[in-house]
Amino acid sequence: MAAGSLERLTEILVLLSWGLSGYPAVRVEPGGETMAILPMGWTAMAACRGSEGALFFAPDVSERKEERLERELAAKRICTSCPVREECLTNAIDHRESHGIWGGLNEVERRSLLRR
Ligand code: SF4
Repeated sequence: MAAGSLERLTEILVLLSWGLSGYPAVRVEPGGETMAILPMGWTAMAACRGSEGALFFAPDVSERKEERLERELAAKRICTSCPVREECLTNAIDHRESHGIWGGLNEVERRSLLRR
C-alpha cells in the first residue's frame, strides 16, 4: 500500500474510532509515529475517556523522570476507579502494548507481570 493511502486509511480509522467510542483515538509513539486505537466495546465505559487521555502516554521522549512519575501517578489514580480495568489490562497484555498506562500499569509493570 502506498504511504499516502496508508496515511489516509489511518485518518479514517482514527475518525471512526473517535466517533464510535469517544475513547482517546490517537496516540503518538515516542518516535513520532501516530497510532490509531480501534474502537472496542469496553472502552465506552473507560474512566479515561475525554481530556484525561493525554495523561496515559508520554508526550515525547524529552519528558523528565519526575514529570513521567507525576503523570503516571495521575493516570493510575484514574485507573483505580475504572470499571473496565481488568478488560483494559487484559487487552494491553494480549496486544503487547509497549507504551502507556493500561489497566493501571505502565509498560515496565506489564512486562514484569508477563514474566511471572
Ligand atoms: S483501566 Fe485505566 S487506562 Fe484502562 S480504560 Fe480504565 S482508566 Fe483507561
